[in-house]
This record gives sequence, C-alpha cells and structure tokens, in this order.
Amino acid sequence: MNERNGAGAAPFYLPQADECAVFEAAHANGLPVLLKGPTGCGKTRFVSHMAARLGRRLYTVACHDDLAAADLIGRYLLKGGETIWVDGPLTRAVREGAICYLDEVVEARKDVTVVLHPLTDDRRILPIDRTGEELDAAPGFMLVASFNPGYQNILKTLKPSTRQRFLSVEFDFPKPDLEVKVVVQESGLGEEQVRALVRLAGKLRGLRGQDVEEGVSTRLVVYAATLIAQGMSVDRAVRAAMIEPLTDDEDVKRGLLDLVAAVFG
Ligand code: ADP
Repeated sequence: MNERNGAGAAPFYLPQADECAVFEAAHANGLPVLLKGPTGCGKTRFVSHMAARLGRRLYTVACHDDLAAADLIGRYLLKGGETIWVDGPLTRAVREGAICYLDEVVEARKDVTVVLHPLTDDRRILPIDRTGEELDAAPGFMLVASFNPGYQNILKTLKPSTRQRFLSVEFDFPKPDLEVKVVVQESGLGEEQVRALVRLAGKLRGLRGQDVEEGVSTRLVVYAATLIAQGMSVDRAVRAAMIEPLTDDEDVKRGLLDLVAAVFG
C-alpha cells in the first residue's frame, strides 16, 4: 500500500477533458468514481493530483488476485504477546475522510466487492465483522476504483451490480498534442523528438487487437523519452521502451521495427 499526504503541491496532471470537474463534484457529494481505461494512460496520476488539490490524504491499493477484504479492512495482529487490531487502508480512509483508490479492482478477490457495496450507496458505512464496529464514513471520504475494460479476461470483469454503484469516467491515451506536452514535461526531452515518439505511439496503437494485445502506454512513451534525454540512442531507447514491452514474437517485432524506421528513418 502506498500512502501520500494530501498536503503540498499537486503532482503534474494535464486534463484530457472535464474529468477534474466530475471528480470534484463526486467528492463534494460523497459519490464513488470508477476510472475506466487502458493501463498507463494517467489514471493513477489523475487521482494523486486530485487528492492533493482537494487536500485529502490518499490511500492507494494495487489490487491483485490474492487481495482479500481483510487486507483492506484490517486484522488482528500479535504484537509483544498482545493481540491488537490494525486498520487496513480502506478503514483508515473511512475514519479519516480520505480518498481510497483501488487500482485494478477486478483483480481483487470476490469478498472485496461485498465490502464495497455498503460504502458505495447512501449508507456510506463500513461494517467490520471482526470488531463488531460499524463505521460511518467521515466527511470527505471517497472511494475511487480503476478498471481496464480492454483487458480480455472473461472471468475478471466487473459485475453490473458493482459497476452501477460508481460514476464512471472514461480515460484513453491523451490526444497527440496533449501527449506531447505530458511527455515533454515528464522527460525533459525536446518537443521535436517527443513529437516523433508520439507519432510512433499512435501507429503502434493502431495495431491494438491485431498483432499486439495492448497499444503502447503514455508511461512507456515517457520512459523512451527519458532514456533519450539521458543520452541513449533513439533506436535503443525505442526498442527497450516501446517495442519489447509489447510483444515477444520475433515476426511481430520485425513488423513493429518497420514502423519505427518509417517514423524515424
Ligand atoms: P495508469 O494509472 O492509467 O496505469 P499512470 O497514471 O501511472 O497510468 O500514468 C503513467 C504515466 O503517464 C504517469 O506517471 C505520467 O508520467 C504520465 N501521464 C499520463 N497521462 C498524463 C497526464 N494527463 N498528465 C500528466 N502525466 C500523465
């Protein structure tokens, strides 16, 4: 779990549309928000930016297939011969009026969604069976979850009964002009070179669902630009950051490298 204090300057975030206004309205009304979109398109950055802007502490939980409700709520632990209750990140956020961000929520075990339900309707409560407590969420508490709908896993999709409890905001990779600004800011590389990388990213994304499962993320474009800014050759950096992460198939790789040559050749 990653914790960030809401105080201080908000991390850099360039809005794609009206997502900041939607998030602010949701926060003001105690409504949960689901961020939908491919990996590496800015969802996590958006949440840390908004938490800082709203002056709220942020608890981020990267969900995985072993994550159970107790990991979010808390558990009894043995400390110096004594058994003490230790709040999990969700419980802490509920008590403190903080923002709890469940990244890739579909990955978590099924009992997690059961815990979220009473928090995502107008009751805004968190029952803790183990201690017998029933917590009312403090003002300012907000539940945010992310979900990658393009990720093809039939067993892991969000049930309608859960989805319909969240406002949904759709994310995608930023439009080229916006992505150029993001990558320049994040990497320090000059705009002209960044434009070429973003053009390449657009072409690679055009292959989504054909040769490669997922298009190249903004995160990877930032990585490539960072390596180039630090002196690595464009060819090496692009291979390491924008080609190898997409596929292990040598034939497909060759095809992708042709695209690189077309953009940079
Ligand atoms: P996600 O949570 O969608 O997987 P992240 O929020 O971690 O993705 O984004 C990956 C990286 O892309 C960030 O660390 C940041 O460098 C960059 N990024 C993407 N979109 C934006 C944006 N709109 N403003 C600022 N940085 C962005």
